[in-house]
Amino acid sequence: MPEGGFIRDCDCLSEHRRATLVSTADNTMNVPLLELNTQNQALEPELKEAFERVLRSGRFILGPELESFENAVAELSGVRHGVGVTSGTDAILLALMALGIGPGDEVLCPSFTFFATAGCIARAGAVPVFVDSEPETFNIDVEDAERRITERTKAIIPVHLFGQAADMDAIAELAKRHKLAVIEDAAQALGAGHRGRPVGGIGTCGTFSFFPSKNLGGFGDAGMLVTDDETLAHKARILRMHGAEPKYYHKYIGGNFRMDPLQAALLQVKLPHCETYNKNRRANAAAYAEALDALPGVGVAGESDGEPPRLLRPSERPDRYHIWNQYTLRVTGEGRRDALKRFLNERDIGAEIYYPVPLHRQECFQPFEPADFLPVCETLAAEVISIPVYPELGEARRNTVIEAVTAFLSEE
Ligand SMILES: *Cc1c(COP(=O)(O)O)cnc(C)c1O
Repeated sequence: MPEGGFIRDCDCLSEHRRATLVSTADNTMNVPLLELNTQNQALEPELKEAFERVLRSGRFILGPELESFENAVAELSGVRHGVGVTSGTDAILLALMALGIGPGDEVLCPSFTFFATAGCIARAGAVPVFVDSEPETFNIDVEDAERRITERTKAIIPVHLFGQAADMDAIAELAKRHKLAVIEDAAQALGAGHRGRPVGGIGTCGTFSFFPSKNLGGFGDAGMLVTDDETLAHKARILRMHGAEPKYYHKYIGGNFRMDPLQAALLQVKLPHCETYNKNRRANAAAYAEALDALPGVGVAGESDGEPPRLLRPSERPDRYHIWNQYTLRVTGEGRRDALKRFLNERDIGAEIYYPVPLHRQECFQPFEPADFLPVCETLAAEVISIPVYPELGEARRNTVIEAVTAFLSEE
């Protein structure tokens, strides 16, 4: 346990009572889906120090605090350049703009993802082309992507959904054959790996989000574009400042996408702890897997044979390093997923559906005439449910979740 004063004072309290005390969003939650205060309060002295440093510096736009954080994240991603921006969404938009993608272009992306992945493609003026997902990893199905390539396809945006890398070998091979740029949407996957390489730095460029619920959660909105391509990084830097180079001479039509140095200074405090946060998430996932595998009716997606399982637990591919931004189960059987969500929520256990409606079914994308049926995406949207896996969950609360899932399955 770190040396934070608040945590020390509370050490005498039961784990549950401490959770209740420090819970932000919903004090009635016995086991919240996510709880940020424990993590942040443990670093309070350093965070205050960083805030005061920026306050005294008088420098609130760009500058050394931001550069230092950009370099640290780039290094973690195994590339040379980081461009700090206002959000993970703006990082994707900026990547598309810097790659010159716009009207007349098509960009492949999964349908089963957060809205921003495809929203940015449309905002850049291009057409989002929705691709089906793999039932085991929830990630983009590369064979299905290939079927949707036309002469207008310029890029592919694999998303490392829930913290596990997409199949980057197959994507690299596809991209090479069809001359596509690869933008890794690594919003949920800072610290995740693919065959020993950190995600974000594998494709043409990668994008991260520091939204509070991500594995490195900030104090508001922030994001970053990382790349090893010097020209691309340079263009992205210009575009995040209204496309001007030098100042007041506008080469491109850019925007204001700058990350605040204050946010960078605070995130820099948390960055060295991210690996520990990820390890704690992995420990939670391993404990869930062990407990769930002992229950009748539970299978592993892609591995089960015989009786169709009532519940599928997620798994880590052997060549990936999963950092479990979400621990997402699949509950089979009409209405059963919603029943589990009610069952957990009634017992004050946080559980959410990420994502209930795949993007090809969203009203706003209908003008692009998306594929009308992506079978795996439809199934996932109907079956998924995410349960608490945050780093500070701890054994007691984790067992509460396991007991509730066990009780739900034995009721059937
Ligand atoms: C969170 C998220 C984003 C957007 O990040 P923001 O910082 O919230 O704008 C994009 N893609 C995925 C997959 C995400 O999970």
